[in-house]
Amino acid sequence: MNTSKDLFRKCYDFTLADDVKAQGVYPFFHPIDETEGPVVSFGGRKLIMAGSNNYLGLTSDERVKQASINAIKKYGTSCSGSRYMTGTVNLHIELEEKLADFFEKERCLLFSTGYQTGQGVIPTLVQRGEYVVSDRDNHASLVAATIMAVGQSAKLVRYHHNNMDDLERVLNTIPGDAGKLIVSDGVFSVSGEIVDLPRLVELAKKYNARILIDDAHGVGVIGRDGRGTPSEFGLVDEVDMVMGTFSKTFGSLGGYVAGERAVINYIKHNASSLIFSASPTPASVAAVLASLEIMKAEPELMERLISNTDYVRQGLKNAGFRLMPSRTAIVSVIIGDQMKTLTFWKKLFDAGVYVNAFIRPGVMPGMEALRTSFMATHEKEHLDKVITEFCTIGKELQII
Ligand code: PMP
Repeated sequence: MNTSKDLFRKCYDFTLADDVKAQGVYPFFHPIDETEGPVVSFGGRKLIMAGSNNYLGLTSDERVKQASINAIKKYGTSCSGSRYMTGTVNLHIELEEKLADFFEKERCLLFSTGYQTGQGVIPTLVQRGEYVVSDRDNHASLVAATIMAVGQSAKLVRYHHNNMDDLERVLNTIPGDAGKLIVSDGVFSVSGEIVDLPRLVELAKKYNARILIDDAHGVGVIGRDGRGTPSEFGLVDEVDMVMGTFSKTFGSLGGYVAGERAVINYIKHNASSLIFSASPTPASVAAVLASLEIMKAEPELMERLISNTDYVRQGLKNAGFRLMPSRTAIVSVIIGDQMKTLTFWKKLFDAGVYVNAFIRPGVMPGMEALRTSFMATHEKEHLDKVITEFCTIGKELQII
């Protein structure tokens, strides 16, 4: 008898999603049928969107939409190939030049998603016998990229989240002559906390390490005119590479890395996730170009985003909720129990507020949370409703 285990056994045994659905509190994959930025419609019912990363509200800006339409008319719907081969159009080059200028780096390189950007940068740069030095709470895409590097015989050391004493401890364990890349989110995606960049830079200098900051949640939110975390600390020149995504502030889809000429040139000619994947669509790139101009011309959008988020943060704090440390556009409310988090999520959904439920494996047990994030385009009445519904349900579930 063949006793080998069927590969699909784990799939047949996977019941978590169905169990949660049976309890009526499944929070994932709900299709939106229409969106007007801060208000979205599910099955014809309007909800306040308090969980999107569309920080400046640019996905529904008429100028951004028109730029995408114009690009489709000129270039069609796809480049049908990788940047390396037939998939580069003028818009890619124009955006790379404009972003290099915006981030005050010599060069910039576009990828098709932020996820692929990490996979293009980390395993390409960190090779056999060299080290990735990673914050334990880095985004899943950076973790995946690091595993790819390790698969190619790079080494990995991790330090406690945003703990610079621990970073120094791990740096001390690495041979002085080995190449090292310190990788950190600029703004951590679950909590909204900002990296302790001044100390990280100090340690990178002391131990001769290079720095990669993933600023997916920092750009458009902090720093001069939204230039992100390095700019926020006045450390643009000290950070070797910044990478990020177009799926948040820029209201589009795609990713980028910016840094010095030789490094970007090396990544450009060696990164698998760039060379073997189709380039960002003309419509996506044109939307970013339009968003970038709006960001530069209308810094008041960022001010509104921060004041909107501060308003909700203060409201929830005053009500007695436990919040993760943040002064960015993310406000994560710790519920601390999986079922209560899902129940809270469903009650908010029914009351007309859409947020994100963070449960295992996204967060550690005990840190289950409802992650809210805000937009420059939320009105005060939207924010008040979010606070009110949180308070009503929080009391009902005895969270506050
Ligand atoms: N890095 C971070 C910190 C992110 O939060 C995200 C998206 N959640 C990504 C990378 C991946 O970006 P994309 O959505 O463009 O793949």
